[in-house]
Amino acid sequence: MVMRYLLDTSDEALHAWLSERNLPAYRAEQIRKWIFQRRAGTFEEMTDLPAALRKELAGEFEIWTSRVAAHRKSDDGTEKLLLELGDGERIECVLLRDGLRRSICISTQVGCAMGCVFCASGLDGVARNLRAGEIVEQMLLLARLLPEDERISHVVAMGMGEPLANLDALLPALDEASSPSGLGISPRRITISTVGLPPGIRRLAEENKGYNLAVSLHAPDDALRQELVPISKNIKLAEIMASADLYFDRSGRRLTFEYVLLAGLNDSPDHARRLAKLLRGRPALLNVIPYNLVAGLPYQTPSPQAEREFRNVLEQAGINLQFRRRKGHKIDAACGQLRRITS
Ligand code: SAH
Repeated sequence: MVMRYLLDTSDEALHAWLSERNLPAYRAEQIRKWIFQRRAGTFEEMTDLPAALRKELAGEFEIWTSRVAAHRKSDDGTEKLLLELGDGERIECVLLRDGLRRSICISTQVGCAMGCVFCASGLDGVARNLRAGEIVEQMLLLARLLPEDERISHVVAMGMGEPLANLDALLPALDEASSPSGLGISPRRITISTVGLPPGIRRLAEENKGYNLAVSLHAPDDALRQELVPISKNIKLAEIMASADLYFDRSGRRLTFEYVLLAGLNDSPDHARRLAKLLRGRPALLNVIPYNLVAGLPYQTPSPQAEREFRNVLEQAGINLQFRRRKGHKIDAACGQLRRITS
């Protein structure tokens, strides 16, 4: 018999399964509580369920469909899991510790189809979308790395894949993250990072869940952006900015723009000036990310001096910005790198 995947089973389907067996609906809530709040790993642990039910559940549902193929920890508290999915595909997810923050970074696809030239995730294209349950599973496995008295505080969909290319799975997964009977994380602490797909951004605006939107720019003009981000060949910056503005209007959430600094390509003071012009007047945070080297790719991290100059221009232009500190790069926590090294 094919096992059913609990984390991909809707509440309605679980209720139906229970009622077919003349079991009370509250058993579903008990199971959810064990999974999301008590971080149970097996049905056997769910000791307030009758033993017979636990056995029947274990015979019909699997909780985990992935196997931890590698688990790396770095001195700064970052932990990274390489997961092997049921079909042998591999994805990565990360836990980051920063003061009281416990942030996780999750993947939404196996590989990526966007083709950003500097990024490790897309080097082999996209194999498939993740199922909603597989996205939830990453969150639960990462939560289980924390001591009992700590909880995940922030979620970023910034791992492998393009989140807006898999919204049908991401949205239900994030519902579980934000639901009080799920992980109970405020939508304000959930961020979706996109390469900039206007239809997806508009859909997200319609859904109006209150998540933060981060748009990966990497260039201040269409010509350079099309070189660095091939998917943008038919997507103009103006359209991306318009959809991002719409998202802000609907959600009231301050926008984030990401800009990976690549030595000699997009890191000159002139790039910074034009970037400042693009962002001026927008209620936005610019997140500048020094490039993390990817084995086999020629791109380089800018010199500290180039970084400083880039930053000065933006600061003088009054742009609200943050230079992301590097975390976890020693364990190849950045962006689809672990999968390549260990596969
Ligand atoms: N597809 C989404 C989310 C995944 S990547 C997006 O494009 O936003 C999250 C961020 O990491 C993106 O801004 C991406 O461009 C950036 N990134 C990818 N590879 C990187 C690398 N090697 N070093 C630094 N940032 C990288």
